[in-house]
Amino acid sequence: MPDRKTKPVGYEETISHSGHRLTPQRREVYNVLLGERDHPTATEVFIRAKRRMPGISLATVYNCLETLVECGLAKQVNVEREATRYCPNLSEHGHFVCENCGAVSDIPVVKEGGIARLLKVPSRFAVKHSEITLRGTCPDCRNSNN
Ligand SMILES: [Zn+2]
Ligand SMILES: [Zn+2]
Repeated sequence: MPDRKTKPVGYEETISHSGHRLTPQRREVYNVLLGERDHPTATEVFIRAKRRMPGISLATVYNCLETLVECGLAKQVNVEREATRYCPNLSEHGHFVCENCGAVSDIPVVKEGGIARLLKVPSRFAVKHSEITLRGTCPDCRNSNN
């Protein structure tokens, strides 16, 4: 496991430091995540990866995503009962989920370490992960309703 406190380095270094092999499939899946920052599900990543790598299977995509998460190159985003989505944005941020179209957008935090600081967490709790999800109407849906 890489030290998550150090600055994110390149894909090659991160993958090889974690003891995982640099496979073309992993790189393709990572490129798909970086290509469109819309928090795709594994199935969506699979459909996109297939365009350039027709032989890739859904199981391989799942494995690649798992590796990227293990290496700290991507985060899982869970939206209620929906399929897990994947996010390559490693800076601390919250998510905005559109209740109309389901789009998930990144919302930056005002200050680093900000999410946990928004709450009065008693000192006897050790926060390891924090997640914030806002719900409402995205700009696209607001415009089309006008
Ligand atoms: Zn929307
Ligand atoms: Zn995100």
